[in-house]
Amino acid sequence: MKKSLIFIISVGLLLSVGIFYFYKQSKKSVSNINVEISNLNNMRNIIPVAIIGSGPAGLSASIYSQRAGYHTVVIEGKKPGGQLTETTYVENWPSRKKILGPVLMNDMIEQNKELGVSFLSDTISKVNLNTWPFELWTSEGTKLNALTLIIATGSAPRMLKVPGEHEYWGRGVTSCAICDAPFYKGKNVVVIGGGDSAAEQVLQLSPHVKHITMLVRGEKMRASQAMQDRVKAVDNATILYNKQIKQIIGDEAHVKGIEIQDSKTKETKTMDIDGVFLAIGHDPSTGMFKDYLEMDQGNYIVVKGRTQETSVPGVFAAGDVEDHVYMQAGIAAGAGIKAALDAGFFLQKAGFTPDLAKKLKDNYFDVAQAGPSPVKAISTEQEFEAEVIKSDKPVILDFWANHCPSCKAMLPTFDAVARKFADKVKFIKVNIDEAEAIVKNVYVLKIPLFIVYKDGEIVARNQNVMDRAQMTEFIQQFVK
Ligand code: NDP
Repeated sequence: MKKSLIFIISVGLLLSVGIFYFYKQSKKSVSNINVEISNLNNMRNIIPVAIIGSGPAGLSASIYSQRAGYHTVVIEGKKPGGQLTETTYVENWPSRKKILGPVLMNDMIEQNKELGVSFLSDTISKVNLNTWPFELWTSEGTKLNALTLIIATGSAPRMLKVPGEHEYWGRGVTSCAICDAPFYKGKNVVVIGGGDSAAEQVLQLSPHVKHITMLVRGEKMRASQAMQDRVKAVDNATILYNKQIKQIIGDEAHVKGIEIQDSKTKETKTMDIDGVFLAIGHDPSTGMFKDYLEMDQGNYIVVKGRTQETSVPGVFAAGDVEDHVYMQAGIAAGAGIKAALDAGFFLQKAGFTPDLAKKLKDNYFDVAQAGPSPVKAISTEQEFEAEVIKSDKPVILDFWANHCPSCKAMLPTFDAVARKFADKVKFIKVNIDEAEAIVKNVYVLKIPLFIVYKDGEIVARNQNVMDRAQMTEFIQQFVK
């Protein structure tokens, strides 16, 4: 009896150890992807180094991987050049005493193009990192096969989550001062937040608006001392501390005021204002990867030690997606460089030799260069009358400006979608700084702005930054 009990316990123990071992192995097999180079011969749309994101992290990674001889494709995302394209002067980029953020990023893009890096002006909407090559789908459904993947998707502006924010988005609420400041000439606005981004927005708004109130929720600003000093020197700005925004109020058309509460006295009051500029920090753009990669509590991707390796071999992360401490462009660039070197080590180890790279050249994903654009630019009232009002086809107008990074970023998307619908819809772009006569007849408070005309009448307006799939869906409804 005693012997059989010992036997049963021993078998039970052995079984438990066995089950635990197989469980561990099966968990491991998810991240222990099967790297089999011979599988690549019959595969199309191969990208040896795919980089999602085109801020300082992505564009530094691409310089290194392209120079190392790996065909590199940068999938630009909705904001090519990243957040620096929305800042004014950068004074802490080594070697450049003072340079405009958009100019710095443009230089980086030019340098990349000269080196032969390919740019895809689209977003990635879905990934599968449980298989190798890693599968990436563009917003339009093209499947790409990445031998290595560098995630440099950065972070997205945080929202306040108060009543009125969503309702008045684009009608008095925005997060891009550099884009929309000119629409608030002579008006009173508030900037919410006390970090460097909020300070930047105050400086960007100052030359345009009548007065700016900066609302800081705590007792002090989080911005660097240099930025605080600059904000305090702005004549038409006031800083209020311990103020929380409770509600954004307006009429049918746009914002008229806000309700704020003093966090110490709990006193609530209403302020009459015309615009709310949000700058309350950023969250990492990592949602698409959460089923595959180890992340921390703040949804930042966890990287290993001094490398940029993630929990999946062959996938690397760099910049604001993995860094919640430094969050500086220079650090992101350095991390991008490390990620590119790590990707190179991975490819070498996998047996991806220069000879093999040559053999596979025809299987690479080719970012096709299309012919002449069907998008027409107009600027005068006469052109507007002839091309828009009298058009027998539906017309979609893209209102953009050189000072608006997200507008510029959308031009290639507008162009790509125009090629698909050119026989059914007319596509027109209007640079608002060169078309005053057109703009004064159309209510514009936020750009990019897309307006659809049918039979000479406005039938739809859209102020969203869209990827190719979203814009296709938007236009589809006006096509017979
Ligand atoms: P930060 O996280 O630095 O600052 C966010 C600010 O928003 C803080 O003042 C925070 O208050 C406030 N905030 C957060 N949530 C709310 C809320 N619900 N209501 C009201 N206020 C809120 O983010 P930033 O985007 O400003 O900067 C991110 C990083 O980018 C930083 O490292 C910054 O240094 C860098 N950067 C540098 C620039 C430069 O050098 N010129 C320009 C722009 C950014 P609290 O402090 O109380 O948490």
